[in-house]
Amino acid sequence: NKDFTLKQFRADFPALNSNGVYLDSAATALKPQVMVDATVAYYARNTATAKRSLHHDALQVTAAIDKARQHVANLLHASNNTEIIWTRGATESINLIAQSYARCVLQPNDEIIVSELEHHSNLIPWLIVAKQTGAKVIKWSANIDELSSLISSRTKIVAITHMSNVTGFCPNLATISQIVHQYNAILVVDGAQGIVHHDIDVTTLDIDFYAFSAHKLYGPTGLGVLYGKQSLLEQMSVWHGGGKMLKSTSFDDFIQEDTPYKFEAGTPNIAGIIGFNATLDWLTNWDLKKAENYTEQLAHYTKSQLSKLSNLQFYSVENSPIITFNLNDIHHNDVAILLSEQNIAIRTGELCAQPLMNKLGCHGVIRLSLMPYNNKQDVDTFILALQNAIEILA
Ligand code: PMP
Repeated sequence: NKDFTLKQFRADFPALNSNGVYLDSAATALKPQVMVDATVAYYARNTATAKRSLHHDALQVTAAIDKARQHVANLLHASNNTEIIWTRGATESINLIAQSYARCVLQPNDEIIVSELEHHSNLIPWLIVAKQTGAKVIKWSANIDELSSLISSRTKIVAITHMSNVTGFCPNLATISQIVHQYNAILVVDGAQGIVHHDIDVTTLDIDFYAFSAHKLYGPTGLGVLYGKQSLLEQMSVWHGGGKMLKSTSFDDFIQEDTPYKFEAGTPNIAGIIGFNATLDWLTNWDLKKAENYTEQLAHYTKSQLSKLSNLQFYSVENSPIITFNLNDIHHNDVAILLSEQNIAIRTGELCAQPLMNKLGCHGVIRLSLMPYNNKQDVDTFILALQNAIEILA
C-alpha cells in the first residue's frame, strides 16, 4: 500500500514551511523530519560509539549501523551487505576506488576512460592516480559508439555518471557494462544524482563500483556509500589505517579486517548513519515511481514555461529534474543574486564540471533542480522572479 501524494510528501519536510522556494536539490536535498528526529535522538539521548564499547547504547548503535548497511544493500540490489562501505560522500568513495584499487592494478600506459560529462569528483581522482602510476586518462563523449572505438586491452577502468548533474543525461549503463566487461575492464558509476531519481540494480547491470552521497538522497551530509563487487573488495588493500580496520598488529605489520570493515578506519559518522537509516526507512513508505512521474511532469511544465522567455538556451535533456540554461548576454551569477533577493534558491556556475562547460561553450549555467516535494507554485514563483531579474539585467 505504498502511495505518493504531493500533500503528504511535502508535509514531511519542515524546511518547506519557510517562505523561500528551494530549487537547488541537485546540490543537496531537503531533509524529512524523521531524519532530523533520529539524529537529534542519537545526540540528545543515545550517544555512544560503535563497534567498540559493550554497554547497551553502544551495542544498539553498532547494530543500527549494520542495519543501515543492509538497507543500502537492498536499495542497490547488492548481493551482500559486505559489499557496502561507509564513506564521507561520493567524492571519498571514488577516491577510495582510485587509491585502493586503481593504484595497485594500473601499469604505465594503461588507460582509464572517463566521460566528458563527469563531475570533478569522477575526474580528479583518476588524474591523481594516473600521475601516480603512469596510466593515461582518456576523454570519452559518453557516446556508446565512441566507447567501442576507444576501448582496448589497455583499458583497465571506465568511469561514467549514472546521471549528469549538468544535463540530466542518463547513459545506457547496461550496454556500457557489456562493452567494458568484454575487455575485462571494470566499470565505475558515479550515482550521486542518478540514485535520487532512478532505480539501480548493481548486480543485474554488473557494475563493479557504484558511489553516492547520502545528502542528495534526503540524508545527512558527511556520509556516503561505496558499493564494490565482493571479489574486487577482497583483493583490494586498504587506503586509510586506524582503529577497527585490522585483525591484529604489532610494530612490524598488521593484518587487515575483512571487507567492508577494513575500509572503515576510525569512528564512523554514527549520527549520519542513524539519520540515513531513518531516511531509508521513510523512503520505503512511498511509491517512488509515482513520485518520479510527478517530478517529470513538473519538469515538463517548468521547461514549457521557461521556453516562453526569449533568448534562452537549454542544456538539459527532456523531462529531466535537472534543468540548465543560459540567457543570452546575462551573467548566470547575476541571475542567482537577483533570485536570492526574491527568496529563491537555485545553483549557477560551472557545477564542478569544467570540461563539460568547455564542451557546451559556456563558463557557467543556471540550474534549477526539482524533487517530488516541489510544486507548481514553486515553479510559477521562480518564473516570475526570473522575469523580474531579466527586466533588471537586460
Ligand atoms: N557526482 C555528481 C554527479 C554530483 O552531482 C556530485 C555532487 N555535486 C558529486 C559527484 C559529489 O558529491 P559529494 O560532493 O557529496 O561528494
